[in-house]
Amino acid sequence: MTPFTLHGIPVSRGIAIGRAHILAPAALDVQHYLIADDQVEAEVSRLQCAIAAVHAELQNIWNELPPDAPAELGAFIDVHALILSDPMISEMPLDIIRSRYYNAEWALVTQIEELSAQFEEIEDTYLRERKADIQQVGERVLKALTGSANFLPKVDGAEGGASMIVVAHDISPADMLQFRDRAFSGFITDVGGQNSHTAIVARSLDIPATVGVSNASTLILQGDWLIIDGDAGVVVVAPTSVVLDQYREKQARQLRERKKLGKLKKTPAITLDGTAITLLANIEFPDDCGHALDAGAHGIGLFRSEFLFMGRTGHPHKLPTEDEQFASYKQAVVAMKGRPVTIRTLDIGADKPMDFAEQTALNPALGLRAIRFCLAEPQMFMTQLRAILRASAFGPVKMLIPMLAHAFEIDQTLAMVERAKAQLREEKIKFDSVMPVGAMIEIPAAALTLPLFIKRLDFLSIGTNDLIQYTLAIDRVDHEVAHLYNPLHPAVLYLLSTTIAIAAKAGVPLSVCGEMAGDIQMTRLLLGMGLREFSMHPSQLLAVKNEILNSDLQVLVPATRKIARLFEPKAIAEAVEQLRLQGAPQ
Ligand code: PEP
Ligand code: MG
Repeated sequence: MTPFTLHGIPVSRGIAIGRAHILAPAALDVQHYLIADDQVEAEVSRLQCAIAAVHAELQNIWNELPPDAPAELGAFIDVHALILSDPMISEMPLDIIRSRYYNAEWALVTQIEELSAQFEEIEDTYLRERKADIQQVGERVLKALTGSANFLPKVDGAEGGASMIVVAHDISPADMLQFRDRAFSGFITDVGGQNSHTAIVARSLDIPATVGVSNASTLILQGDWLIIDGDAGVVVVAPTSVVLDQYREKQARQLRERKKLGKLKKTPAITLDGTAITLLANIEFPDDCGHALDAGAHGIGLFRSEFLFMGRTGHPHKLPTEDEQFASYKQAVVAMKGRPVTIRTLDIGADKPMDFAEQTALNPALGLRAIRFCLAEPQMFMTQLRAILRASAFGPVKMLIPMLAHAFEIDQTLAMVERAKAQLREEKIKFDSVMPVGAMIEIPAAALTLPLFIKRLDFLSIGTNDLIQYTLAIDRVDHEVAHLYNPLHPAVLYLLSTTIAIAAKAGVPLSVCGEMAGDIQMTRLLLGMGLREFSMHPSQLLAVKNEILNSDLQVLVPATRKIARLFEPKAIAEAVEQLRLQGAPQ
């Protein structure tokens, strides 16, 4: 095969080398043909065998759920098993084969389409959305009929020790859960952006990944040898042995560098001029606290609680209950052994949809998401506020509110926190009565009206992912505008530097918890702007610490001031590049 190279958006660093495992799009596009009279029973039994195989497969998945898998995943599989047993799926297609002489695939698809159309008519949103479950079950049976793989295979070095690289059109953040505990060495998707939540989860899993590689899932074939250069966003398909050797060498070099960084775990994060910097971790699930501690994090700067609310299809409770949430928050607080845990309230919407919430917004990133959604659903919000407050009795907790832009949103939120406290007091349930409440600064309007926030809140955290999205008016998950996503745009730098400076002057603690905080190209720029608290994925923490240890603020501060006066993109990029060389003394 002739080697070729594909280009995409680098989202997770490092080199991965392995064979392609294509996650086929679930296509209901099958062969249609009529069978002869004497083939009917054989065709019926072919479909029955496929259904039995999927039953066994679901059972297997159930048995092998990793111990840290969210409880609802089991329920989700149960729902699929129930659908599979329903006569609508297990018997009606057999009747279609017998009465219309359709081949098994055609009979199954006919029935699935018929059922889907019926579900489409249902008014109840929850029930209507079960259509997706029926289609997924149908696809599983189809794949069993056509002999293609249904779920990720076990990686046990069966292919001469080669690891596997997942290639897919798209992978949802919830589906990324499949990557936990499995030895996949990388992933490639056709769509997605640098700061899509799928990309963020990839970084948290610390595996090389490239997204937005248009047509990768059709151009790459099952079993092809692949190299992902996660730093450059390049995918080499069917590389020659010379290229493979070059990348293996580069991979080995990176591993050696990583090992060296591992020695910094206990080293205090202090710049050359003696300024202490706080390094915090971003997590999605309480189990991630182990990685945060392993990386030497001072605490959790961002616990994205919305992941507890996602992937709940088929769960008896659409939303996690107060006790369920409390258990997760408390688990993180206890695991961090006295270090602060910043729990962000539900930041749902846009590319983090809840399974049951109807997606009707024409422009989800500008729609009823995050705090807007919470204030519109006060009962649900109150449940979360109570759960977070209850967890604060077990260690230092800070509550972080996403997507605030208006003074009245802050006031309503704080009033609800007070109401939650009053309820708990009445019920004699313990909580930290002075738990700090802070705001994400991630909408330009917030960055431009900081006094409103400083007056009302205890701390601030800049969400650069959304701040860049909204400042530059580009959808962070749309690969077609990914080239416009520029953290160094002078408008972004202006908002960042003024926010940091105003908060410092007011004496309000401020961190950055967007992806910029974990990007070593940006560390010195942020230090020079006056940032003293960085929150990032644990996998990025030691590399950022290494930059800090070699930085001198006496050099960085004046150099950054000069950058703040620049407008030309080329001049800014060059000056930031220079900072990486200048930060340390000559
Ligand atoms: C951000 O917007 O920068 C952020 C940290 O939050 P999220 O990526 O979850 O939107
Ligand atoms: Mg955000």
